[in-house]
Amino acid sequence: MSSARSGIAASGHILMCGKIYLRLTSNSPAETLAIARALGAALRPGDVVALTGDLGAGKTLFCKGVGEALGIPPDRIVSPTFTIVTEYEGPVPLTHIDVFRLSGAREADEIGMRELLSGEGVCLVEWAEKITELLPTDCIQVKFSHSDDDRREIAVAAPDLPRFDDFRARSIRFQPGG
Ligand code: ADP
Ligand code: MG
Repeated sequence: MSSARSGIAASGHILMCGKIYLRLTSNSPAETLAIARALGAALRPGDVVALTGDLGAGKTLFCKGVGEALGIPPDRIVSPTFTIVTEYEGPVPLTHIDVFRLSGAREADEIGMRELLSGEGVCLVEWAEKITELLPTDCIQVKFSHSDDDRREIAVAAPDLPRFDDFRARSIRFQPGG
């Protein structure tokens, strides 16, 4: 495990790192893709993104946008609901997981979820609330809420690191009053 992910710096000191919280509103699939591309540009190998929200909330669409930012054509990214895991090669390897069909953390653990979550690339997990115990504490959380129309509330929590500043700037137009 890399030092940044364990929260222990090379010097042995614990890295004290707060979180940024953004509440974003998307009014269309295109806007959700734009938010996802902006977040994707801030991601680094080893990052885990935990996506939560009901069926049809936009998690898979969001993964397409993240993948695009990582250099993977968005039409190649399809829902892994039935395969559970899809791995994409690219400039940054992408592991796309959907745990919807798993019973919970125990079953996920049995099929090697810990290894998948500590892989070399970026890891995206749909229905992450089902495996909370297995997620790294510094994972990026993206929580979708939606009603019947095209509007989606997207709440993002990420470590307060400089590399997320640009994401914050690029998502201002989706923030309240932005
Ligand atoms: P999930 O993976 O959360 O089940 P999907 O990404 O597969 O959801 O599907 C989201 C569906 O909602 C798509 O058909 C998409 O076109 C539609 N949609 C409508 N408005 C939005 C929006 N603002 N953001 C994301 N998806 C939206
Ligand atoms: Mg999905």
